[in-house]
Amino acid sequence: MKIRFLSLALSLAAAPLFAQQTPQSIADAELPSLLTIYKDLHTHPELSTHEERSAAIVAKELKAAGCEVTERVGKYDKPSLTCFGVIGVMKNGDGPVVAVRTDLDALPVHEETGLPYASTVTTKNDAGQDVSVMHACGHDIHMSTFIGTARALGKLKDKWHGTVIFIGQPAEETVGGARALLKDGLYTRWPKPNYVLGLHDDAEFPAGQLTVTEGYVYANVDSVDVTVKGMGGHGAYPHKTKDPIVLSAEIINGWQTIASRETNPHDDVVVTVGSIHGGTKHNIIPDEVKMQLTVRTYKKEVRDVVLAAIERIAKGCATAAGLPPDKMPEVKVRQDEFTPATYNNPELTKRVTAALKAAIGADNVVPKDPTMGGEDFSEYSLPDHSIPAMMFSVGAVDPAKVAESKKPGALPLPSLHSSKFAPVPEPTIRTGIIGMTSAVLDLMKR
Ligand SMILES: [Zn+2]
Ligand SMILES: [Zn+2]
Repeated sequence: MKIRFLSLALSLAAAPLFAQQTPQSIADAELPSLLTIYKDLHTHPELSTHEERSAAIVAKELKAAGCEVTERVGKYDKPSLTCFGVIGVMKNGDGPVVAVRTDLDALPVHEETGLPYASTVTTKNDAGQDVSVMHACGHDIHMSTFIGTARALGKLKDKWHGTVIFIGQPAEETVGGARALLKDGLYTRWPKPNYVLGLHDDAEFPAGQLTVTEGYVYANVDSVDVTVKGMGGHGAYPHKTKDPIVLSAEIINGWQTIASRETNPHDDVVVTVGSIHGGTKHNIIPDEVKMQLTVRTYKKEVRDVVLAAIERIAKGCATAAGLPPDKMPEVKVRQDEFTPATYNNPELTKRVTAALKAAIGADNVVPKDPTMGGEDFSEYSLPDHSIPAMMFSVGAVDPAKVAESKKPGALPLPSLHSSKFAPVPEPTIRTGIIGMTSAVLDLMKR
């Protein structure tokens, strides 16, 4: 009797408490433990395709939040590599399937933030060189937010129905992680999602804000290798040679007319020659020059035009220089390194934006311009964009520093990938959890 009375009293006391749980209250309650996880992840970054420890932490936390977890998911093109993908499934009856993605990897950057929990990790990269490792892109913020979102959705099961697929993706920075997961049956071994959501931290916007972009948000990224051939000889007798260095200079200038004269001014195009190598000595005209290009576009038809123009201009300049057909430049588009453009489905973006505004206040959800950066999050919506996907950003900078950086003559803030990028974890992770949880709840509400 006494026990029954006590349990009744307890359940009466607990009922209103449970009913009051919100993404905000759960984010507040979970924050201390998530900050511990964040600092641990930050201190122990791992390079792309080597995310064993980070993946194990994510897997353990997803299990604790109530997911069925599968580890070591993913098949890379290189079979000797283990893929440390983590898939967590949280079931809550019939209903929509929504996937939430985090990346797991860090970068070969020597951390210079001076933070007490800064990384001092060094390792060997895949080429055998000694490198420092740092979470310079904030994927540790993403993992902590992701774990917090899983905890929140596990506690808010009375507010949603369906299945959430939590995707812990390795190798975002080197690209290939998302493709490896899809190749290993992400959409066949587990339910195919109706929607996919992702989040990235932002090195320009203040913590406490979320930013959204509708439509294209990140670009198609193509890597192109070009070998310009010539006929080498003495630097003093250029008339007895075909100089591939002068020819390369012409080709590079010719490529700059693609964006200015060939494509519609309203279509974004970048053609950057990031590396050029030719020759060995002052007075020798070499036989060839090698170049490496990054090419950024949004639309498929624009990409096709730009890649074709790169080859046509290179060959046209070589013909104009008098090179024979067997000495035409070789232009190789590296299909294995292609990253498709990330397209934020407009309908989904409008819906999620409304949910984000309701969760953190309309003033704190701001539109952001798209960038010509790349993200393999794009893979999840499939090449035909048949799965609506959306990636939004969470401001990660101390608001006072953002204000300071806008004063005339001020230095720019450290960007993503900078050795000095130090996101402020507390409000950033809190805002990320509230945003992502509210977005999922809206898509899966009862
Ligand atoms: Zn990055
Ligand atoms: Zn990143």
